[in-house]
Amino acid sequence: MKTDRITSTLVELCEIPSPSGCERHVADYILSRISALGLDAVEDNAGDNLNGDTGNIIVRVDGNSSSSLLLTAHMDTVMPVGGLPDRINVNITDGIVHTDQNSILGADDKAGIAIALELLHHIVETSDYIHSLEIVFTVQEEIGARGAAYLNKESIRSKQGFVLDGDTPVGTVIVSAPHKLRYDLVVRGTAAHAALEPEKGINAIKAMSAIVAELPCGKIDSKTVTNYGIVKGGNATNVIPDRVELIGELRGHDLEKVQYVQKQIDETPSRVLACSGASAEIVWTDLYPGYSVSLDELCIRYFASACKKFDVQVDYITTDGGGDANPLNGSGIICVPFGLGMKAIHTNQENIKLADLYDAFNLLLECVSIKS
Ligand SMILES: [Zn+2]
Repeated sequence: MKTDRITSTLVELCEIPSPSGCERHVADYILSRISALGLDAVEDNAGDNLNGDTGNIIVRVDGNSSSSLLLTAHMDTVMPVGGLPDRINVNITDGIVHTDQNSILGADDKAGIAIALELLHHIVETSDYIHSLEIVFTVQEEIGARGAAYLNKESIRSKQGFVLDGDTPVGTVIVSAPHKLRYDLVVRGTAAHAALEPEKGINAIKAMSAIVAELPCGKIDSKTVTNYGIVKGGNATNVIPDRVELIGELRGHDLEKVQYVQKQIDETPSRVLACSGASAEIVWTDLYPGYSVSLDELCIRYFASACKKFDVQVDYITTDGGGDANPLNGSGIICVPFGLGMKAIHTNQENIKLADLYDAFNLLLECVSIKS
């Protein structure tokens, strides 16, 4: 690893804003770096199909093993409430990379991209033993791992890998993440003038309120949580509203428990609305599957062995969040998010220690260099 190079790669990447769906400039930066190394990359058509300007970028490198490992990093960042400036001002103070606090840094996940690009340099510049690799730079991770979900997993020959994305410490991997579903509940009543003929109306907001009072919400148990977060409906105070919509989510590590709560949510509207004249409909969307990776899997064994070599404390983490590892594991590619040590992600205080970036690179290099 050339520390100056990986540092400037990270800074240059962070300076380019790339909110979900607008990853083009970061993708072009990555493509130019890859082609300067004499390597080929392909871009899929996720951009066209997911209303973005960029597809997933896939690079394959033949190494010394017949089987290959998958590495991924996402090119998008969150879009903060106040938007993003045209250029992000990145500073390094006492070995910590941060912004002028007027925007996020985007080390989530530019740190993962910087590590992957440095690894490509390492492969081109040395003849050291290394696994064959498939490296995928994904789009739209922050809005539901959409790029990874879209990715044609049939075209990926790796069976195991690492998702280079994590605000967890170096030395950690996330081995378990929940299933996530969204529901859209629409309640319909009957519109009428609220003052002239109120007896002809059925108030959808009132009906929805009765349902909401009964709907499961909050922490169900240590592995299951549900929330409703958006409600829309009504146009004027003098009209009895005939339509209200509520959007919620349900997450859980145990699929049976998730399905049990889903059934409770499903049954609530019809039970509450019986004889009210109002009607309700719920539409569910599976956002991504959960996963639980066994500690016996190859990627975990590589990781544990690499941590041992560098005398790094290993920690296997369960998260309640989700990301690219969810759809990948759901398609049978066993992979775990790899702690990179980024901190305060999605805020203007986001930062990453260069020492953590370098340590994460060394750990990953060791993981992909272990002879199987
Ligand atoms: Zn991320």
